[in-house]
Amino acid sequence: MPNVTVCARFRPLSSKERKDHGDSVYIHAIDAESFILKDEKDEDIAFSFDRVFYEKSQQADIYEFLALPIVGDAVKGINGTIITYGQTGAGKTYSMEGPNILESDEPKKGLLPRVVDGLFSCLRSSDDATKHTIKLSMVEIYMEKVRDLFDLSKDNIQIKEGRMQEILLFGVTEILLLDPAEALESLSCGIANRAVGETQMNMKSSRSHCVYMFTVQQESAKDRSVRTGKLILVDLAGSEKVEKTGAEGRVLEEAKTINKSLSALGNVINALTCGSLGKANHIPYRDSKLTRILQDALGGNSRTALLCCCSPSSSNISESLSTLRFAARAKHI
Ligand code: ADP
Ligand code: MG
Repeated sequence: MPNVTVCARFRPLSSKERKDHGDSVYIHAIDAESFILKDEKDEDIAFSFDRVFYEKSQQADIYEFLALPIVGDAVKGINGTIITYGQTGAGKTYSMEGPNILESDEPKKGLLPRVVDGLFSCLRSSDDATKHTIKLSMVEIYMEKVRDLFDLSKDNIQIKEGRMQEILLFGVTEILLLDPAEALESLSCGIANRAVGETQMNMKSSRSHCVYMFTVQQESAKDRSVRTGKLILVDLAGSEKVEKTGAEGRVLEEAKTINKSLSALGNVINALTCGSLGKANHIPYRDSKLTRILQDALGGNSRTALLCCCSPSSSNISESLSTLRFAARAKHI
């Protein structure tokens, strides 16, 4: 049974939210796992998750609770996935990267730099006789096309299944990471390329999914046996609904495609966490490129963490409610 952790995170009110809508917040914390939300009709709805990170929560708290166990497992050869979900502006990228991927202020560092440090420190403390490598690939999924963020000319990467049913991105660039500093340089390079590609295509980053894939391989000096763990982090496209009126052409197509892939993700996680999961139970990985790429890091003997990010402002309540419902459904709560 795969291990799925679902958390909610509320960022602090932004100065714009304060200025335009005042300090009104819809959440009433109960404890570290649950809160009450007052909806637009002033009705109370209770939610509980594995953990709720309120606005004062620290980046380090998030790493320790939802990423550290996954990093530890990746080093043991167990695949894992960490996903940020939520409307644009809710704090997905802040949680993933921090204010900037090269942020030097420790408390502000996001999950990615912490994951990098975590992977290297686990490996440093492992047996000397083991030869290990960490590789990084970065791709973006836009309109169901997978683009290599280390080589923008590879703009239609195919997803294949290997001999051991492992998922392979055919021809994707893999960068060998030698130390944490180099890893951050590579991440920063992929993120910069993403912005270049978006300008070329006249597209906003909030309309594509960004996928960071770390592959950790360890070869034992004793018996040459190889252990591989894959750790994937995903900064999803914004989950907001586009106005039905107004949206047309490409904007509407984008919205439909994003909606389809996010519901595919919800369905897959839902099917995986379903208690009565029998052999016959079909897991719909093939319904989107996103779920297909994540197939071997979500299913089987793997660990998944879903961080659902929300604005705390009453002005965003309907999108937040939809995010929290997604989160609740992911785990049959
Ligand atoms: P998203 O990626 O979901 O569109 P961002 O992560 O870019 O949203 O966040 C939107 C804005 O809110 C950014 O300016 C970001 O720095 C700020 N922000 C998000 N989360 C936090 C937080 N926990 N603490 C402080 N600022 C935050
Ligand atoms: Mg973002």
